[in-house]
Amino acid sequence: LSRLRRTEPSLRSFIHVADAAAEREAEELDRRIASGEKDAVGPLAGVPVGVKDNLCTANMPSTGGSRILDGYRPAYDATVVRRLREAGAIVVGKTNLDEFGMGSTTEGSAFQVTTNPWDNSRVPGGSSGGSASAVSARQCIVSLGSDTGGSVRQPASFCGVVGLKPTYGRVSRFGLMAYASSLDVVGCFGSSVFDTATILSVVAGHDKMDSTSSSQVVPDYASELVSLDLLESKPLAGVRIGIIQETLGEGVANGVISSIKGAASHLEQLGSLVEEVSLPSFSLGLPAYYILASSEASSNLSRYDGIRYGRQVSADDLNELYGESRANGLGHEVKMRILMGTYALSAGYYDAYYKRAQQVRTLVKESFKDALERYDILISPAAPSAAYKIGEKTNDPLAMYAGDIMTVNVNLAGLPALVVPCGFVEGGPAGLPVGLQMIGSPFCEGNLLRVGHIFE
Ligand code: GLN
Repeated sequence: LSRLRRTEPSLRSFIHVADAAAEREAEELDRRIASGEKDAVGPLAGVPVGVKDNLCTANMPSTGGSRILDGYRPAYDATVVRRLREAGAIVVGKTNLDEFGMGSTTEGSAFQVTTNPWDNSRVPGGSSGGSASAVSARQCIVSLGSDTGGSVRQPASFCGVVGLKPTYGRVSRFGLMAYASSLDVVGCFGSSVFDTATILSVVAGHDKMDSTSSSQVVPDYASELVSLDLLESKPLAGVRIGIIQETLGEGVANGVISSIKGAASHLEQLGSLVEEVSLPSFSLGLPAYYILASSEASSNLSRYDGIRYGRQVSADDLNELYGESRANGLGHEVKMRILMGTYALSAGYYDAYYKRAQQVRTLVKESFKDALERYDILISPAAPSAAYKIGEKTNDPLAMYAGDIMTVNVNLAGLPALVVPCGFVEGGPAGLPVGLQMIGSPFCEGNLLRVGHIFE
């Protein structure tokens, strides 16, 4: 907590720091351990965690980065938060994000701009920028984020930490504020693959409160890593890896390309087979994603009507109440997404946009499935560049959207993906980190973590 307090003024990773509650919980844990309670020491006992502020936390502010939820204190914990607490973790605070997860820089928060620990004049990425910067600066040991189109993986890459987007359905979404429900997943950040694997085992698994959560057994991901023989000369022998050709071309920074190529040859030295693979539908994913995500958002966000949650306004009639609440409570980017979504869903345009985007989604899914029959893991950069300057893309939303090209297809296909730091490019006082994205078949998080751990 003292490190968090010392670093927070320059980083602003947290919307809410739970100092007092965290200290109380730590003391309570000490007391239970001292009195010999045998279940006092869970797998995460005393581990400080950060939780993205679009995850509900009982009796703690949960704003989703939006003014419209200013003052909202949910009555319950999201399932993932409840599981963390039951494992002994201590929630040290709620991390900053782009409003409702819509953005790639965390500048879209209604409250503050988070900075990148590697260079405070740069963005930490987004939308889970607070969770990534907090782990990167060791303000907490691990953190939770959410990933609808890259919001765990891109900030992990920008901040030089490990980020995991699980398979759709691997982790419960109960208590996660919905952005685009068919794409949203809760993801994990850690400063090592081992830490990330440890929290995944805690938060994953079926939840009766989320009908899309899977009942597949959750492996003990971290102990699987302990049994690996890292001294073996070719620990990745037999692993087939495909580099996605379309991700190393135009628009991708040279330093990023060379870091990924360096990572590929490292994977080869470790014994794996590395080949280039083409996914022709790759570039179609981005426009399809923005149509589908905005469409789902326009429906999901209708719940913020000014009555049920958060901020109260006074008005003479119902229409005025909706209007006042939403006009002042929602930010510019969110309004833009609602407009795009309602447009794409409207009767005259549905076939041309929404339906077509769904068809593209099927195409993307099939091309990944096909490639993952030939390769165990597909690799690409996690983002086309390293962290850029605060303000650089604020007036150019299309440039910001284009930065999501590497990650959105994975959500359209519902696949798991792990980002691990793999190099540096020039910039900032000490260089800027670059992340390698590894994509696997559904529910093969274990494979990704194994390869990531050996790679690391
Ligand atoms: N940047 C993407 C968007 O704005 C992804 C965000 C996310 O994964 N939550 O939609």
